[in-house]
Amino acid sequence: MLDVAIIGGGPAGLSAGLYTTRGGLKNVVMFEKGMPGGQITSSSEMENYPGVATVMDGMSFMAPWLEQCTRFGLKHEMSNVDRVAKNSDGSFSIYLEGGKVETAKAVIVATGSTPKRAGVKGEDEFFGKGVSTCATCDGFFYKNKEVAVLGGGDTALEEAEYLANICSKVYLIHRRDEFRAAPVTVEKAKKNPKIEFITNAKVDEIYGDATGVTGVKVALKDGSIRDLKVPGIFTFVGLNVRNEVLKDENGNFICDTLPAGQVRVNLKMQTNVPGLFAAGDLREDAPKQVVCAAADGAVSALSAMSYIESINKH
Ligand code: FAD
Ligand code: NAP
Repeated sequence: MLDVAIIGGGPAGLSAGLYTTRGGLKNVVMFEKGMPGGQITSSSEMENYPGVATVMDGMSFMAPWLEQCTRFGLKHEMSNVDRVAKNSDGSFSIYLEGGKVETAKAVIVATGSTPKRAGVKGEDEFFGKGVSTCATCDGFFYKNKEVAVLGGGDTALEEAEYLANICSKVYLIHRRDEFRAAPVTVEKAKKNPKIEFITNAKVDEIYGDATGVTGVKVALKDGSIRDLKVPGIFTFVGLNVRNEVLKDENGNFICDTLPAGQVRVNLKMQTNVPGLFAAGDLREDAPKQVVCAAADGAVSALSAMSYIESINKH
């Protein structure tokens, strides 16, 4: 039986792997369906991780993380986890795609989240090259430039405000003229002279060249097309939390979640199921930053080690 099974190999999962193995656990496996590194590997520039002064792409930034963990004995298995189940003896079963089943004393789920794609022409081609889903991360690259924001939820409106502090102008494009965002948030954004609202509008195309995005074509209600010559567009059309592994065979969650799917945890990253921990973007109130996910991973590892120590005593 594994001491700890870690599901997901982004910053949270890798940090959990580092802390569990360096803390002395011998049998820890991190299940990651793709290459380890997580979402940040799709970013062209990473410059806000404390202590790392060199700006680099997300892939280069994450490359040493696995190497560091394996030095302390973390085992990495490239597998997609279908689901996790708590057994009657207190252990967990980890059901892998393909039918294999592993058992573990404790489980750390760090499967992250994925920003929804808007489904606009050019969005995939220029993702990370002018199309972004993270204003905190990428807003600075557009200092004193004009940018577009797509979406009408709290994230879009709040991030438009954030970007307006950095950029010369923000075009807020929304497909309706009513907003999902809280009225007070909408009012605040409407009062901001640097934000221009373009409502009842649809982004038809994001276009560019080898340097990245150079503009966005917006279809207006009257049938005309407005061509915005912006070097960046931020799409905030909702998030998908990757919580599928926490559903049982009937599709019910095995631990407490919020209505939008984020996993409920306490400050030790414990879920309401003993021995089951959640870390990173997946958890409630996640700030969705690499440094925060890494910190969650470390906290969840320390908690899992305490949990294993307590069950070993009995
Ligand atoms: P993730 O990074 O999402 O990792 C989860 C991992 O779990 C993935 O590798 C996934 O393949 C794996 N996984 C999911 N389901 C399964 C399964 N069933 N079985 C096995 N494996 C599974 N943050 C910053 O701090 N600074 C930045 O500059 C920055 N820029 C960003 C730019 C972009 C384009 C994006 C998309 C995000 C950016 N972020 C940035 C946010 C940051 O990437 C996330 O907050 C962080 O990666 C979250 O880490 P995580 O470990 O919780 O989840
Ligand atoms: P969201 O509330 O789901 O809003 C997504 C927005 O994107 C909606 O306006 C939607 O338009 C639009 N949209 C969706 N698909 C689109 C597409 N394909 N093309 C164009 N537009 C599209 O997502 P969110 O803003 O990320 O918020 C997620 C959750 O977090 C919400 O519950 C939100 O309240 C919460 N949140 C809260 C705070 C806060 O309390 N301060 C801050 C941020 C987020 P329609 O409106 O027409 O559907």
